[in-house]
Amino acid sequence: MKKKISPAWLLRGTFLVLTVVLGVFLAVRAVGNAAARANREGGYAPGVYTASASGFGGVVDVTVTIGDKGGITDVTAVGPDETPDVGGAAIPTLVSQILQRQSADVDVVSGATYTSNAVREAAAAALAQASGETGAARPTPEGDNLFIPGTYVGVSKGFGGDVEVTVTVSENAIESIAIGGEHETENIGTFAVEMLGERILSAQSPKVDVLTGATVTSNAILRALNDALTQAGADLKRFPDATDSGEAVNRVAVNMDADIVIIGAGGAGMTAAIDATQAGKSVILLEKMPYAGGNTTKATGGMNAAETHYQAEQGIEDSVEQFVEDTMKGGHDLNNRDLVTVMAQNSAAAIDWLDSIGAPLPKVSFSGGATNKRIHAPEDGSGVGAYLVTAFRRNLDELGVTVLYDTCATDILTENGAVSGVKAQSKTQDVTITTRAVILATGGFGNNEDMIVRYRPDLKGTVTTSAPGITGDGIVMAQAIGADLVDIEQIQLHPTVEQATSMLITESVRGDGAILVNQEGKRFTNELLTRDVVSAAELEQTGSYAYIIFDQRLREGLKATEKYISTGITVQGDTIEDLAAQLDIDPATLAQTLADWNGYVAAQEDPDFGRTTGMEADLSQAPYYAIKIAPGIHHTMGGVKIDTQARVIDTQGNPIPGLFAAGEVTGGVHGGNRIGGNAVADIVVFGKVAAQSAIAYLAQ
Ligand code: ADP
Repeated sequence: MKKKISPAWLLRGTFLVLTVVLGVFLAVRAVGNAAARANREGGYAPGVYTASASGFGGVVDVTVTIGDKGGITDVTAVGPDETPDVGGAAIPTLVSQILQRQSADVDVVSGATYTSNAVREAAAAALAQASGETGAARPTPEGDNLFIPGTYVGVSKGFGGDVEVTVTVSENAIESIAIGGEHETENIGTFAVEMLGERILSAQSPKVDVLTGATVTSNAILRALNDALTQAGADLKRFPDATDSGEAVNRVAVNMDADIVIIGAGGAGMTAAIDATQAGKSVILLEKMPYAGGNTTKATGGMNAAETHYQAEQGIEDSVEQFVEDTMKGGHDLNNRDLVTVMAQNSAAAIDWLDSIGAPLPKVSFSGGATNKRIHAPEDGSGVGAYLVTAFRRNLDELGVTVLYDTCATDILTENGAVSGVKAQSKTQDVTITTRAVILATGGFGNNEDMIVRYRPDLKGTVTTSAPGITGDGIVMAQAIGADLVDIEQIQLHPTVEQATSMLITESVRGDGAILVNQEGKRFTNELLTRDVVSAAELEQTGSYAYIIFDQRLREGLKATEKYISTGITVQGDTIEDLAAQLDIDPATLAQTLADWNGYVAAQEDPDFGRTTGMEADLSQAPYYAIKIAPGIHHTMGGVKIDTQARVIDTQGNPIPGLFAAGEVTGGVHGGNRIGGNAVADIVVFGKVAAQSAIAYLAQ
């Protein structure tokens, strides 16, 4: 069969060739360096220089040609993996700016920050070569060895800041890799980062596939690794290519069995897997991504629970009944009250259970839609999702649960109407697992545009905050064996999502005092109304977007803002007028809006939109910040119909024997609007209910 060469590899090939050409050039240049310097009129040594940097979707290569007089005479930039309409479209502008200014210090193209920064970084590196600042000869290992033994550190720019890779090598092996990058972990979880490290170690090569859903971070890690390995004297050409060539492999049929098969290693699936294993059942957990966590990783707030020992210890009065009422009200009374009652009644026990597995959530506070302080969060202020996923993974490891990563469940098998097995596929294996009980925990369908449009045509083209694996597979598999769906068209929009990166700007920014303005520089809503109402108001504005505006005081008080700033999605101005000018808003109007708002804060009254919360401090400390945002799909509240025992119900109203479901794959708990803190309550409570029901079913 003819081997296919992908455009990315062609590019890399070109890059390698250029690197070799450059090497020869540098060697020749070293001899006649003085002469070459004398030739420079524009400041650079004539020649062709190439460098690359990580963009939004992949590597961006920039080639700079320096003419005889030492000026930049030609620039090309190639970024095949950049979003065509965004980063791709920005490249010609950046290239012409570099030529015009004869410098890599060009303006970021608005809305294409990643690509812009990559072009700037790569152009600067190429020009550094042209200035003779780089090009030091690579140290040479002894004999035919791959490395000079030692520990080396490489650094590269990732999603939210610098990624640092520390690699220890012996003469011919990569012995260990440590990957640091505080900002990255918040987005995809430390385990994803660890897994790329494992992939590199087992391949003994930096030429491995990037992690799906974590391209920018993966590329940054690989670039930092290449940097470290080059310092160790490695010739990168000598490493084996361990990337997936896309060619057909000989598939292997694998048969397994388990008491319970759980599909999806997000919060609900991992809870169920731990609970069932603790009860002595054999469990296989299937996860289609190379890492666990799903949307759960992204949960930042906490877990709602009522009548917990933490509330009692902190003197907080609350009740299960109030929790039920708040949830029903928040969900516009569309919720299934029985399911909500199960969630509320079992929430305190779920908190105790989290204590028992080493994942306490002791910090209790208020959150939107709750009458009492009810949301439980980690002590250290870390995001609840990443915290729980890390704890769940540790428990799965300790319990020795079989987790098959990169393995996508495709079918639930039945015999005489009862569950009899699961079929799944990995890159190389067709797996058939015989089992009597299956727990679906595949999450929602926020990342499946076809499904979104099928149920909500009005949301076509809306960005999503969902993780890449959240494509509604569980709903499709359950429907194929007769399951009923409930509230499937109920999809929650989050009003503050940056559109180029799908990064969610947490509600706390508005809670701490930020306002929303439209392109005309005016407020248009009470910013702290429910997510659906604020989203709808944004969609009515010019261009269906808005800007979230905050100041230096707010930045200093809210850690989350640092990520927005380091990611490059924030526009900063020394004065409000300066900020307005950068946003193409009339400066006088925006200044008036801010002045009015600060007056309302002083008077503690918002005559325009009746806002009453998030008014503790005004917006008056320069510099000022803005992020362009619009609504994004956040949570699919409908899904598979379950009863209070987490049994999946068919279209005739009967439980499907052996099929259980928990978490975002199900419908009914959240009704028409999920309140913050209830997603985590849902996954932990119903993950445990599903496990216990499956165990009871097996005993029948
Ligand atoms: P929940 O919050 O309900 O636990 P999450 O979004 O956290 O849901 O997790 C769902 C998990 O299920 C994700 O890790 C996702 O990759 C995984 N998943 C989705 N579809 C499949 C499938 N067909 N096979 C295996 N895993 C799946």
